[in-house]
Amino acid sequence: MNIAFIDLKAQRARLKERIDAAVMRVLDHTAFVMGPEVGEFERALGDFGRAAHVLSCANGTDALALPLMAWGIGPGDAVFCPSFTFAATAEVVPWLGAQPVFVDVLRDTYNLDPDRLEQAIQEVKAKGELTPRAIISVDLFGQPADYPRIAAVARRHGLKLIADSAQGFGCALDGEQPLHWADATTTSFFPAKPLGCYGDGGAVLTNDADLHAVLVSLRNHGAGADKYDNVRIGMNSRLDTIQAAILIEKLAVFADEIEARNRIAARYRDGLKGAVSTPQVIIGGVSTWAQYTVETDDRDGLAAHLRERGIPTAMYYPRPLHMQTAYRDYPVGGGGLPATMAAAGRVISLPMHSDLDEPTQDRIVAAVRAFVG
Ligand SMILES: *Cc1c(COP(=O)(O)O)cnc(C)c1O
Repeated sequence: MNIAFIDLKAQRARLKERIDAAVMRVLDHTAFVMGPEVGEFERALGDFGRAAHVLSCANGTDALALPLMAWGIGPGDAVFCPSFTFAATAEVVPWLGAQPVFVDVLRDTYNLDPDRLEQAIQEVKAKGELTPRAIISVDLFGQPADYPRIAAVARRHGLKLIADSAQGFGCALDGEQPLHWADATTTSFFPAKPLGCYGDGGAVLTNDADLHAVLVSLRNHGAGADKYDNVRIGMNSRLDTIQAAILIEKLAVFADEIEARNRIAARYRDGLKGAVSTPQVIIGGVSTWAQYTVETDDRDGLAAHLRERGIPTAMYYPRPLHMQTAYRDYPVGGGGLPATMAAAGRVISLPMHSDLDEPTQDRIVAAVRAFVG
């Protein structure tokens, strides 16, 4: 029997009745855009994420662009971000005419290296061509970046800090979520993310009331107090009511799912010890395990071996952004990207989701061990 990489069908079966009823309520009340479930979900997400304000939006990419737009980031500005991430993290920066500056990650956690970040900002300042404005830190594979140190760098240089928590929403460091340190946390509800909906969706969480007010306007074409006077250039980026209704139900079980993912990750760690290099989580950190990513010298061999046994794997990310066609002309700061390159050549992710049962997991572990020999 083939194993799922992320088993959306198992979760669907577990939550079927509640979600079907929630969707039917929306179909019946017909407020498909900005219906009551949208505000209800935003409040629930704010409670979960300990945020005073939540703006839901169309996807996790818009969620990143919206605060940058609100801060007026544009031509001549630099936004620092990792290269070892999904394209959306950097993509939103050139949307606004600004430039992403790629910074290396830590070799053990794959998250932004605070020392390299400091170095990159100093280099950009010394060069004088771009104005440092913001940092986008990514909670890669689900674990929090080193926010105390990254936020200290941001404060020192007067930069805004976004936590791109599309993979890590719900993660914690020393009992706090990334928003404790960041000006805004963004997330994605793409179905395969730890908190996914049944289509596209995203959100921006913040404790900054002024920022939130501008985000509300930007989401609705730059609307002003007078509905016939749009006061800024905005966009249309709304979360569908149906998706909000689904997310209310999924958020209700999300904490339990994070716990399940951590149980599964601990079993992987014990089972795979000595066979492959298992993930290191930052001290004091709790991951949401968007991915369970191991490293090995022969990952192509391992992928082929597992595929023959009906076990899917994935590689995030074999080609870092600065090596990709659309991004290769943007600056690299902080002494190059050696850790990014080393990781990119060795990582491979195993099936991971909250419904991964023990017999299936044991099959995966045994297959990995058989390959390594
Ligand atoms: C998925 C993802 C996004 C973008 O989310 P979408 O909802 O697909 O637009 C942004 N950043 C990271 C790190 C992601 O993994």
